[in-house]
Amino acid sequence: MTGRKELVSRVKAVLADAGFTEKMWSSMARARESRRRAIEQYGIDVHRMKLENREVKLSSAADRKLVERFAEEARRNGAVVLLARTGAEVIDHVEKVARRANADVIIKVKSLTTEEIDFNHELERRGLRCIETDLGELIVQLAHERPIHLVAPAAHKSVQDIAEIVNRELDLGVQAEHGAILRGVREYLRPIFLSARIGVTGGNIGIAETGTVIIETNEGNGRLVSSAPDIHIVVIGKEKIVASWDQVPGLVTGHAISASGQRATVYVSAMTQRLPLAGRSDGREMHVIILDNGRSMMAEDPWYSDALNCIRCGACMNVCPTYGIVGGHVFGYIYPGPIGIPWTAEVHGIERATFSHLCVSCGLCKEVCPIDIDIPMMIAKVKQEEVQMKGQLRANWFFASSETLARIASLSAPVSNWLLRTTISRYVMEKVFGVDRRRSLPSFSRKRLRNLLTGERDGDGSAGRVVFFPDIYADYNDPELGAAAVRILRSLGYSVVLPNLKWSGMPYVSYGELKKAARVAEYNLRVLRPFLREGYHVVSTEPTAVYMLKGPYRKLAPGEDSELAAARSFTFFEFIEKSMDRLKLTPTLDTGGKVGFHIPCHDRGLTGGRQATRFLEKAGYSVSVVETGTCCGMAGTFGMKSGPIGYDLSMAVGERLFRLFRESGCTIAATESSVCSTQINEGTGIRVLHPLKLVNVG
Ligand code: SF4
Ligand code: SF4
Repeated sequence: MTGRKELVSRVKAVLADAGFTEKMWSSMARARESRRRAIEQYGIDVHRMKLENREVKLSSAADRKLVERFAEEARRNGAVVLLARTGAEVIDHVEKVARRANADVIIKVKSLTTEEIDFNHELERRGLRCIETDLGELIVQLAHERPIHLVAPAAHKSVQDIAEIVNRELDLGVQAEHGAILRGVREYLRPIFLSARIGVTGGNIGIAETGTVIIETNEGNGRLVSSAPDIHIVVIGKEKIVASWDQVPGLVTGHAISASGQRATVYVSAMTQRLPLAGRSDGREMHVIILDNGRSMMAEDPWYSDALNCIRCGACMNVCPTYGIVGGHVFGYIYPGPIGIPWTAEVHGIERATFSHLCVSCGLCKEVCPIDIDIPMMIAKVKQEEVQMKGQLRANWFFASSETLARIASLSAPVSNWLLRTTISRYVMEKVFGVDRRRSLPSFSRKRLRNLLTGERDGDGSAGRVVFFPDIYADYNDPELGAAAVRILRSLGYSVVLPNLKWSGMPYVSYGELKKAARVAEYNLRVLRPFLREGYHVVSTEPTAVYMLKGPYRKLAPGEDSELAAARSFTFFEFIEKSMDRLKLTPTLDTGGKVGFHIPCHDRGLTGGRQATRFLEKAGYSVSVVETGTCCGMAGTFGMKSGPIGYDLSMAVGERLFRLFRESGCTIAATESSVCSTQINEGTGIRVLHPLKLVNVG
């Protein structure tokens, strides 16, 4: 994939194929559910798992002698070790081994590292046949496609599709039924396993202390491929090497839980050396090829080096809202999905990473990643580089200027509100700025939050001191919301100030304007500095504002101020949680039943909506969390943009959530995010309110 236009037309084509999107979505939804269930069932402490695994990967990356030690040990075990700088060196080596062994067939286990260097095609060009032995990988190979997903290469294929492919390509004559397909494929593969002279695998982990390679598979093919042929060739990325065995269990568990919701992958094989079989020592060889292919360069890059910590579990794909609709053939180059964006940009070049436009900056990939890799910020960097190369899209420029536009609209309200609703101006906005006219836009208030609170008594400060951070919505659109929050804080004994903060700057991150985002972060941190040093907390009704303070600001403006701001920032309901019992809460509406609650993406990793739902329940509502496990599709301003990569994709993502809301029987919905409420309301017709608007506080 190269151009933006091509990307748009490919998204359009996928959106028109309801069968494809349904298969893709169901597959990802099942994976999300498996992970969720496994975490619950096995009592996994996700936070701890992330911390420990990250520590292992970071310490491995910092150890400059690790690869050398691993290679030395592998050689000591009798392996032939090659440190390959490029894919071509790998291909040359494998070809040489195959010619010497007089082998024209190579059997393989699924490996993204070999995909990265186009292993199969390169060797096939040289007259060697590569046969994939992982079922999903074999299916995509037979279908002449690339894997659509890191872990589930054929996630987009139904049982019927698979039966059709194996019958057409292998003449198996099987029914479209799981068992029949498996039996048929097994019968096809068995003689190949037994006759092949060369087996190629990747390596999930390399262990330097013993020169061992860990191979994880669920189908047992990894064991056959690595042991039945006389020659076993491992192609492993240099970033997969760790120092010692005690670092392995955490990574294996983290991989299995995140990839497929298993406590452990079915077959975890440790290959250290090839001892002669039954006294035969002839021809039993092990080759370990350690691939660089741009990794050393990536390791030196402060923005992209985190990508090297990836353990290829695929969890970021399972949770990514837009990937879950369009799949990895559109949302990917060779490496698909969220982590595929920085990986592609670094290994294959920025021009191949145009699919970064499909990232809506929901942040969920970081939240789910077992290594806590900051994928969204790496993607923001890719977007910045793409913008520098090709220029900014007009719609992205428009929405990245949201604060200026909000200020103008507020100053000119109510005229601006009238203008934003006329057919002609919406038509012009769509044509000129790419703002989809089907999307309703929020109204602007002439009075800003500060004006609304003028003359009101501050809290006595007995409970503490707070900086209230309204961001755009609670300042320019609905200052009553911000005022309600400030009044509650004051009634609880907090002294509340509203210094002259800018917006959070999230759209700058979303649209690759990192320099502008950094300037906003630096400005806000400068304003916050004296307050933070005096012990103030920062509180916001907008989860995105807190998300920015706790995450992106630390990357955009690293230092003491951003660390302090991250540690002292809270969403409104999280902050008042301990004092909630002191409030007399009553409902403002008779909902006649449940309130459906939606958790905004940026709040998932912060509070998961726990305190906001408790607030509603305390007021007497019966709250039911309605969710698909991913984004509602709106994603800030993404769903306001016109066309396939905007409104159309946004509504396609939201469709399943809309269905769940309609089926929930809720007549009222609640969410803390202003943009999510627009999306849910437009997709369902259900009235959606901020929790503060549903409760009278006495
Ligand atoms: S931030 Fe969200 S949309 Fe972007 S890649 Fe990650 S999961 Fe996908
Ligand atoms: S980036 Fe994280 S979640 Fe995505 S595949 Fe790698 S380890 Fe898994």
